Amino acid sequence: MNIHEYQAKALLRDYGAPVSDGRVVFKAEDAKTAAGELDGPLWVVKAQIHAGGRGKGSFKEASAGEKGGVRLAKSVEEAAEETARMLGRTLVTHQTGPVGKQVNRVYIEDGSGIERELYLALLVDRQSSRISFVCSTEGGMDIEEVAASTPEKILSFPVDPATGYQGFHGRRIAFMLGLEGAQVKQCVKLMGQLYQLFTDKDMEMLEINPLIVTDSGDLKCLDAKMGFDGNAVYRHGDIAALRDETEEDPKELAASKYDLNYIALDGEIGCMVNGAGLAMATMDIIKLYGAEPANFLDVGGGATTEKVTEAFKIITSDPNVKGILVNIFGGIMRCDVIAEGVIAAVKEVGLQVPLVVRLEGTNVEKGKEIIANSGLNVIAAENLKDGAEKIVKAVKG
Ligand code: ADP
Ligand code: MG
Repeated sequence: MNIHEYQAKALLRDYGAPVSDGRVVFKAEDAKTAAGELDGPLWVVKAQIHAGGRGKGSFKEASAGEKGGVRLAKSVEEAAEETARMLGRTLVTHQTGPVGKQVNRVYIEDGSGIERELYLALLVDRQSSRISFVCSTEGGMDIEEVAASTPEKILSFPVDPATGYQGFHGRRIAFMLGLEGAQVKQCVKLMGQLYQLFTDKDMEMLEINPLIVTDSGDLKCLDAKMGFDGNAVYRHGDIAALRDETEEDPKELAASKYDLNYIALDGEIGCMVNGAGLAMATMDIIKLYGAEPANFLDVGGGATTEKVTEAFKIITSDPNVKGILVNIFGGIMRCDVIAEGVIAAVKEVGLQVPLVVRLEGTNVEKGKEIIANSGLNVIAAENLKDGAEKIVKAVKG
């Protein structure tokens, strides 16, 4: 689960980390009051969407030379004008994809004098199974690009969970970032605060890009991106309350309400599968036969007719879906139950695209018989290979 920059900065502030003062604005008419509460003489108006690259992004239907989603203002009036120009419009960045994201909130923040822009992140490193720090002197840039072209400018190391954060971790980062004097002390303290916040809230990712050295020589978190482990959010009511459903894929949102593991993708074959491993294999074999999956969907081991129906609705609501492959391995789940669920679902939500069903495992013969006798236009498949071939052929001809 992701949150907005202004929400992330509020958490940073709670943990004592240095951030600028700012106000979130939902309606243009509130912008003047909000900006007036800040010190000035420089204001920064920042579009709040769950995507990075806002500064370099551009709005749809932008006028010639119009700036992106991070704009400077020299007065309260100007800050209000920029807010009004952003709200309700669609911002496209390299992280939003060409569709972009609608800006429904804007953060007005005190402008900072910037001496240097640095990069700092904490993440769960799957290779070492530990929380790792990542830092670089190349802040404000796309870190993927830095990693590709100048990997020597990135330092990354894991923290031993037995000791947790230690001062030497912070000093190592300060040295890499070329910090001096009082900045080293600030860095050691800040890294400790970030590590504490990260672990307290079960985060998956915390990125400060840029972490700056201000013109007065102090460290400050100028941008903040946070991602939380979705499976742990139930432990943090304060974090759960920060969820902005308008930022989420509506299909993924519907799936989460029915406890379906669903991820939208951009292909044309909708997949309904039980078990994450089988779902991955199904996506692979669809690709092998020359098509692309429209989604990952694991209906889980105990799928009921209701769940299967919901899964179908979600798959068929995707206009990109040109065919559906149901691939079920009956274990505890019986194939006849699944077959009945599929038929009930098709009867309820209708079916405009070819449907291939492959069943294997417990009560497979009974399941196949139910499908065959249903009178519905369902293409039966013998095995995974056959199912993938049939659905790709049905869609691509
Ligand atoms: P994004 O990463 O989405 O583009 P950032 O918050 O990193 O958004 O802002 C982009 C750039 O805008 C920063 O690298 C920094 O140069 C500038 N900027 C952002 N916030 C401020 C601020 N409060 N004061 C001065 N400059 C800022
Ligand atoms: Mg940034």
